[in-house]
Amino acid sequence: MSTWLVTGGAGFIGANFVLQAVASGVRVVNLDLLTYAGNPDTLATLQGNPDHVFVQGDIGDRQLVDTLLRRHRPDAVINFAAESHVDRSIDGPAAFVQTNVVGTLVLLEAVRDHWRALEDDARSAFRFLHVSTDEVYGSLGDTGKFTESTPYAPNSPYSASKAASDHLVRAFHHTYGLPTLTTNCSNNYGPYQFPEKLIPLVIAKALAGEALPVYGDGRNVRDWLYVEDHCKAIRTVLDSGVVGETYNVGGDAERENIEVVKTICALLDRRRPLEDGRRREELIAFVADRPGHDRRYAIDASRIRDGLGWRPAVTFEEGIARTVDWYLDHQPWVRRVLDGSYRLERIGSAA
Ligand code: NAD
Repeated sequence: MSTWLVTGGAGFIGANFVLQAVASGVRVVNLDLLTYAGNPDTLATLQGNPDHVFVQGDIGDRQLVDTLLRRHRPDAVINFAAESHVDRSIDGPAAFVQTNVVGTLVLLEAVRDHWRALEDDARSAFRFLHVSTDEVYGSLGDTGKFTESTPYAPNSPYSASKAASDHLVRAFHHTYGLPTLTTNCSNNYGPYQFPEKLIPLVIAKALAGEALPVYGDGRNVRDWLYVEDHCKAIRTVLDSGVVGETYNVGGDAERENIEVVKTICALLDRRRPLEDGRRREELIAFVADRPGHDRRYAIDASRIRDGLGWRPAVTFEEGIARTVDWYLDHQPWVRRVLDGSYRLERIGSAA
C-alpha cells in the first residue's frame, strides 16, 4: 500500500485529491494549516478512516515536516498547500510569499534530506509533485496558448509567489537531483470550492437573488477544468510523468467570465426560479476591474495528453451543471462556510 504526504489537503483541490486517493487504496497523511481556506467539513466522510491521517500544521514548520516524513515514510509528497486567491494577494502579498515561497522551500529541504536517506529502491521510486497554476505565464492576447516553454511572466503577487515556488522546485531537481514533477493547471471548478472564487460565488449570490459582481467588461477569458479531471491528471503525472518535467493541464474549455456567469444564471433559473419571476441575468453588475487583471489564459496540454494519455473526461457544460447541482444539494456545507462555523470544526490531528 502506498503512503503519500499531501499538503493543503483540506482545501478545494487538495481535498478532492485526498478523497480520490483514499478511495483508490492509498494511505494519505494530510498536512494542512487550516487557514480560512481549509475546511474540515470537506473531509467529514474520512472521519475514523485509518487510511487518512490528518495533521494540522504548517509546511514551513521544518521540525513537524521532518517528524511526519520519519514517522510515515511516504512514497510521494504532493504539495497543494498555498495561499491561492488573487484578490487576497493584492490586499496582502506577504502571506503569499511566506507560504508559497518560504513554506515550499522549507518543505523541499526537508523532503530532499528524507529522500537522500532512503534505501536505493525507495529513493528511485520517490516523487515530489508540486501543484501549480497557468497564471505563472502571465496573460495572452486573442490567440496562442501557454506551452511548458512559455516564459514565466507572472502579473499578480499570487502568481509571482507560485512562479517563485516553481523555480525552487526546478532548482531542487537540477541542483540536488530531487525527483520532482510540476503541474501547471488552468482554473478549476467543482465541489467544495470556497465561495470567494468566481463560480461558487456566483452560484451563492444568484441563489440568494443578490447582485452578481463581474469584473471589468466580463470578457476576460479563462480555461476551465473540472476538479476531478485535475486530480486525475495529477495522479497520471505522479504515476508516469518524466522526473524533472513540468506538465500543463487544461480543460480545452475557454470561456469569457460573462459567459460562465450567464450559464450559471440559466441553470439556476431552470432549477430554482426566483420567486419574483426575474431572470438571474438581470442581477449581473459590472464592477471596477481587478488591478493588473490578466486578459486571457489558454493551455496547450499536448504534453500530458500525447505523452501520458490524460485528457479531460468532463466537458464544461457537463461540469458546470454538475457543480450547480452539487451546490444545490450541499447547502449546509455552503451555509457553514458563509457563516464561519466551519472554522470551529476540529478534526483529529495526529503528528
Ligand atoms: P485552497 O485555497 O482552496 O486550499 C489551500 C489549502 O492550503 C487550504 O486548505 C489551506 O488551509 C492550506 N494551507 C495554506 N497555507 C498553508 C501552510 N502554510 N501549510 C499548510 N497548509 C496550508 O486552494 P486550491 O484552489 O485548492 O489550490 C490548491 C493548489 O492548486 C494551490 O497550490 C494553487 O496554487 C493550485 N492551483 C489552483 C487552481 C484553482 O483554480 N483553484 C488552479 C491551478 C493550480
